[in-house]
Amino acid sequence: VLATRIADCILGQHESWTRRMFELGRKLRADGGGPVWDLSLGNPSLEPPALWAEAIVETLRDEPVGMHRYMTNSGYLEVREFIARREGARYGLPGLEATDVTMTVGAAGAINVLLKSIVDEGDRVLVPAPFFSEYEHYCANHGATLVPVPTGPAFELDVDAIVAAIREDPGSARILVLNSPNNPTGAIYDAASLDRLAAALAGLDLPRPLWVIEDSPYRDLVHDPSTEVPSMLGRWPNTVLVTSHSKDLGLAGERIGYLVISPEALGRELLHRAVTFCNRTLGFVNAPALMQRVLPKVLDQPGGRVDVRVYADNCAKMAAGLRELGFEQPAPQAGFFLFPRLPVHLREAGEVALTDRLRQQRTLVVPGVAFGVPGHLRLAMCVDPPVVDGALNAFRVVCA
Ligand code: PLP
Repeated sequence: VLATRIADCILGQHESWTRRMFELGRKLRADGGGPVWDLSLGNPSLEPPALWAEAIVETLRDEPVGMHRYMTNSGYLEVREFIARREGARYGLPGLEATDVTMTVGAAGAINVLLKSIVDEGDRVLVPAPFFSEYEHYCANHGATLVPVPTGPAFELDVDAIVAAIREDPGSARILVLNSPNNPTGAIYDAASLDRLAAALAGLDLPRPLWVIEDSPYRDLVHDPSTEVPSMLGRWPNTVLVTSHSKDLGLAGERIGYLVISPEALGRELLHRAVTFCNRTLGFVNAPALMQRVLPKVLDQPGGRVDVRVYADNCAKMAAGLRELGFEQPAPQAGFFLFPRLPVHLREAGEVALTDRLRQQRTLVVPGVAFGVPGHLRLAMCVDPPVVDGALNAFRVVCA
């Protein structure tokens, strides 16, 4: 009881809903009351490719001396060269160099390093809503304020709303975070909207440069393989792409990611030095060494991918079932999240009450308020398919 009180008092608002539901799931599983249908945390259910484990064994077997020592804080040069070549080819940026790449402790590490490098106390970080709830804490870490910006009915970018938010106080608008494909909506910001955004940003007369952080850990989890995920790299000079292999390779616990500074960025060299410094001073010093060295042996190699179709199938099945119950759910395009709007008859009670009723049916979801948009639920569909059936049955019981 005391521990619960302390958690309530100290953590209160600050503890994330997602984590809270995850812990609740752990408790429910331990109570012996039957299976728990846990859709709360985006924890990939698929294992990394077999090639990944083979590459680790090979790397450790053949390694020269000194491979477990401190390294350049931005990561091994040969790994950054490999990433620079790969990203340069992907986005048509032949000028991309190893010094534009910094290996990071996941995408979360990269975003924190960038915030630390770029923002001053009181700066505003604009984010289309709904948004990954951890952004709020990342901003708070560095004295910045997160400013949610509305999106359209299918969660598409609203360029006018972004421009209006910047114009509210141009001097403090420092960063725009674009998370595409999006957690929690699964939306991809299409090329036309990125073009419109770049043109609108170029037309603003801002007192300080505005940076775009493009957070893309779901870019290789598109549901239709022919779908492209366009980037602001090549469209807006002050862009930094952030990604990780937490989701596409199922390596969330291994903490391997990186950031890529646009070769056209203002003070490109200086920003590289700043992120290298901050990668050291925030406490992690460098990205995990072994994971760095394994990446070039896995990425783009035969057998180096996880077949993530199951996530798309889960999303499609759940979305169809929810629509039958009166939820509004645009077709998700990528990733493994759904963000359905509550049916009319449940809106007055709200999504926190619905979350509670679902919990009583041993089904865990996260209320939309945690992502800046109430009236919705966030469902993580990176689960084994029977969990989808169990959760859908629970929805049918509580939404009747
Ligand atoms: N950005 C988004 C949108 C995410 O959904 C997540 C993880 O859920 C992260 C960043 C953090 O990713 P990582 O585990 O690679 O740090």
